[in-house]
Amino acid sequence: MFAVGLTGGIGSGKSTVAEVFSKHGVPIVDTDVIAHRITGPQGQAMPLISAEFGQQFVAPDGSLDRAAMRARVFSNEAARQRLEAITHPLIRAEAEREQHAAYGPYVIVAVPLLVESGGWRERVNRILVVDCATETQILRVQRRNAFTRNQVLAIMARQASRAERLQAADDVILNEDENHATLDARIHALHQRYLLLAKPRAF
Ligand code: ADP
Repeated sequence: MFAVGLTGGIGSGKSTVAEVFSKHGVPIVDTDVIAHRITGPQGQAMPLISAEFGQQFVAPDGSLDRAAMRARVFSNEAARQRLEAITHPLIRAEAEREQHAAYGPYVIVAVPLLVESGGWRERVNRILVVDCATETQILRVQRRNAFTRNQVLAIMARQASRAERLQAADDVILNEDENHATLDARIHALHQRYLLLAKPRAF
């Protein structure tokens, strides 16, 4: 099925945009949801994480002790890579399974780190980037998560820059405007384009 990879920096509005596509009847495969599920109770990643990092990273209900793992990988690049070597292949495999099982005119695969992580480009037909000013991202995430400015900047430092992301984009949705009607209209126009692109050719 025709697949659109949806990405954007933290706070750009990916979830907001995905929600509008979903109202148009487009199935959404969300890698954040998958990441959460595979590290939940009985999640596929949990035996591997327990073997690699130890039982102290497993909460009593069998899910990942997120606070403990955050502390472990914070400023420890090697540990982060070991964790991602476990989770990323599982997330990709699960996303692929959902992508094949999805029912709709086309599918949106939401991947926050699509530009940063390998292996996604070849799994989607187009890349749609949700874009806004860096300052807008910071203010939105401060408001949404009650983070300090420095906390937001630390997360953003781990992500691709605005320019790198735009370079990878086939399509861009500017989500600067506070007016949701403008955003809805932009998404509607893109949806029409994707419907045409996804339509099987007669010849
Ligand atoms: P992401 O999924 O990219 O991190 P979200 O869709 O969660 O971003 O948006 C971040 C925050 O900004 C949310 O609280 C959301 O409600 C708000 N937001 C998103 N788009 C707009 C907009 N156009 N105007 C005002 N607030 C917005």
